[in-house]
Amino acid sequence: MIGKLVPYVIMIATAVLAFWRDAPYASLLFLLYMAAWYTTRLVLTQGEENSVTEERHRLRERCLTTGVFIGMVVLPILTLATPLMDFAVYQPFFGQIPIGICVGCLGVFVFWRSHADLGKNWSAHLELRKEHYLVTNGIYARIRHPMYAAIFLITIAQVFLLSNWIAGPLGLITFTLLYLLRIESEEKMMRSKFGELWDSYAAETPRLIPTIPSQD
Ligand code: SAH
Repeated sequence: MIGKLVPYVIMIATAVLAFWRDAPYASLLFLLYMAAWYTTRLVLTQGEENSVTEERHRLRERCLTTGVFIGMVVLPILTLATPLMDFAVYQPFFGQIPIGICVGCLGVFVFWRSHADLGKNWSAHLELRKEHYLVTNGIYARIRHPMYAAIFLITIAQVFLLSNWIAGPLGLITFTLLYLLRIESEEKMMRSKFGELWDSYAAETPRLIPTIPSQD
């Protein structure tokens, strides 16, 4: 339990150091989003176990998630708390910060909804669980990959809020790489597990961007 609080201690220490260093305030907002998605994951993945029965592309998956962790967590924290990335800071353009705030709020909302709907079927990697069932309700009725859509939104918010030529886009770059390398394998895994159920779900539900429902 105590271990789960360590990220909060790191985030608070980062905020204190950022204030002390006079880092741009907008970049601190990204820390808030980080706290929001960590809390979502902490709260909504608690409870009884649903053990993993199948795992695919283990090594590739570990490398990709480590890359995303560096791009979305380690580098933003270093940017805020230390002078390491100061050389790449720029002055945000007009409207950049409000856009970042809106995109970030939407991202955190979609992230929370997707975790709530996916429940115990969630995995950080390509895995199937003992009592895995296909989720097609809630936000999953609108798009097949709402959690990935949410992470795209949060990494776009990172670009806008950090105003740093390197640490800003690195989350988006590493996550795009993970998405491109994972998505076909994930859908193949779902098809092999759920067969026609998956096929009909996939046929009527877009991947990332919801379509406007037709009136008929
Ligand atoms: N791609 C989904 C889920 C991300 S979590 C999204 O973006 O919302 C990754 C794990 O979720 C995968 O390993 C897979 O086991 C599981 N998964 C993906 N889609 C699912 C669905 N519709 N129902 C149940 N489990 C799903």
